[in-house]
Amino acid sequence: MKKDLLTRLNEGPIICAEGYLFAMERRGYLSAGAFVPEVVLEHPEVVSQLHKEFIRAGSDVVQAFTYYGHREKLRIIGKEDLLEPLQKNALKIANDAKDSFKDLDLMVCGDVANTNIFDPNDKNSFIECQNMYEEQVKWAKEAGVDFIVAETISWVEEMKIALKAIKDEGLIAVANYAIPRGEKTRDGYSVVDACKIIEDLGADVVGLNCYRGPDMTMKHLKDIRKNVSCHVAGLPVPYRTTEKDPTFLNIKDNQCDCIPGDNAFPIALDNLYCNRFEMAEFAKDCVQQNINFIGICCGAEPHHVREMALAVGKKPISSKYSPDMTKHFHHGTDKSLKKVNKEIKY
Ligand SMILES: [Zn+2]
Repeated sequence: MKKDLLTRLNEGPIICAEGYLFAMERRGYLSAGAFVPEVVLEHPEVVSQLHKEFIRAGSDVVQAFTYYGHREKLRIIGKEDLLEPLQKNALKIANDAKDSFKDLDLMVCGDVANTNIFDPNDKNSFIECQNMYEEQVKWAKEAGVDFIVAETISWVEEMKIALKAIKDEGLIAVANYAIPRGEKTRDGYSVVDACKIIEDLGADVVGLNCYRGPDMTMKHLKDIRKNVSCHVAGLPVPYRTTEKDPTFLNIKDNQCDCIPGDNAFPIALDNLYCNRFEMAEFAKDCVQQNINFIGICCGAEPHHVREMALAVGKKPISSKYSPDMTKHFHHGTDKSLKKVNKEIKY
């Protein structure tokens, strides 16, 4: 019988690659700003390809690309009629990608996220959020997902609504907050309290995703780990956010003076990028802290995922092509390499 997420986490770390939205924007398949995953309908083969690259890099989870494919986002681009086909197609693409790797023990997850309509002072928004979460969770359940991630949510009250929608369908729930500057949820809870509240309400895994780079995520993960008894998740963005600028939403690139508006987010973050080794260090830290749901959010590329998977002791398919600089014409040590190319100082 197939092991469920919690059994897998009890046995050791799992890797979850995310970041489809940014990856598709960079490749030219959706627009920064509205950030709606229309690519799921217009170019499903591109989404499928990225799933496969992440799987080859060692992701144990194929996350259906439903992030920001929700009712509010489709309304803003005037395409609400595409909601159901988009959601269902994203789930099918993920399932198909999983099925093309029969030898691997992959899990498929559904995804619900910040609705951008939640307003603590507007009780109607609670109902609208609930409806949005319920319809998405229902479609994910119909598609047979292994679990659902509720993520990038900054309000405890909004997370509660998402969690209830998932648990009402009897599914395993991973609840990941995105924490803004100020180190509290938007409704003023400490990160630890926000996680404890949601664990007590039945979340199976609690943690953080998005907004923050590895260091600014890890500083909270350690406290979460000490204060909850369920599994903990950490999925930072691969950008070097700092104590001064803890999130990537408002961060400058001081070495560049031609970024329109002077904010590196979201399309000029390149110079703040973490390399694969930095992401591998984050993954190793997670294992040491007993944080077993390890991943990466906006900005992720397969090379990050591969190094993270290797760092936690996995042997991903694409590690077949891990670097081997012994064969490099200038840096290499292979005896057949020409001395004339090794002597020159570049
Ligand atoms: Zn993200």
